[in-house]
Amino acid sequence: MNRRDFLKIGGSAAIATGMGGLATIPADARPASDGPGLTVKFLGTGAAGKRRSDHPEDRRHSSVLLDNRIVIDFTPSSEDMLPEGFSPEALFFTHSHGDHYNPAAAVRLKPRAIYLGETWIQRAIGEIYSSAAIQKLPAPQILPLRVGDRINFGDISLTAVPANHATNDIHEQTLMYLIEKGDVRVLYATDTGGIPSVAGRIAIIDPHVKQGKALTGLIMESTMGLDYDEDFRIFAHSSTATVLRTVHMLTKYGRYTPPEGQPVYITHMSRSLHDTPVDKNWPDIIKPAHDGLEVVFRAPV
Ligand SMILES: [Zn+2]
Ligand SMILES: [Zn+2]
Repeated sequence: MNRRDFLKIGGSAAIATGMGGLATIPADARPASDGPGLTVKFLGTGAAGKRRSDHPEDRRHSSVLLDNRIVIDFTPSSEDMLPEGFSPEALFFTHSHGDHYNPAAAVRLKPRAIYLGETWIQRAIGEIYSSAAIQKLPAPQILPLRVGDRINFGDISLTAVPANHATNDIHEQTLMYLIEKGDVRVLYATDTGGIPSVAGRIAIIDPHVKQGKALTGLIMESTMGLDYDEDFRIFAHSSTATVLRTVHMLTKYGRYTPPEGQPVYITHMSRSLHDTPVDKNWPDIIKPAHDGLEVVFRAPV
């Protein structure tokens, strides 16, 4: 399936199956509830790659701020997105790639605690402590996460789920996060090639499990644009076509039930693989996030 096939389809009701036909998303979308939503501010929405000083449109590295309290992934590229002196309750890292994790920026952010995968915590402790010493700043508390661990912060919880991704350390298990607040259940899925089955089990979106609450929101990486399914990154990253197919499947099995009108937000877009940074022709169910975008995710009634 090429980009043109997607664009021809358009509209919010139908997306391509990739098998040459169309699939209709069931029209069971419900209005958003009045309950407290989860506010997600995108501090950065780009993939690895240096921002060019003469290109203000270049995206910062992917990072989000949840309810003005919790940050997922953080590099120096997003430091200007936070007010002076702001410190989150917690900083979570998905993995140790330099476009997500930066020891110096982590120390300067002064989070009350840093959470990251237990599989690489010894390396991180060494790097973060030595950066704290060099910068003459306090070393933050660093806590390990195992796959399936759920950490509660009052009305918000984050659960570590495995990603399909790799770093140079083959023993590092990279992570994504299921963010829950009341009936809002948002999966923050980067970096990953599709959704691994164990992640599907933990987030209860595997159609085999089919019990409990479905996802109500999805933020998924699209390192590649619509055209790039055959890019070598497919083993470790997703294309917009992968996101569409994932949404279609989850919707078909009732495992993704967003409130009416809420799109899937894509992030971690590669400058070299998206030919138009904010393409006006995206299918309606997909919205490319941009740096500084603030979204309130609500549960359906
Ligand atoms: Zn990345
Ligand atoms: Zn990565």
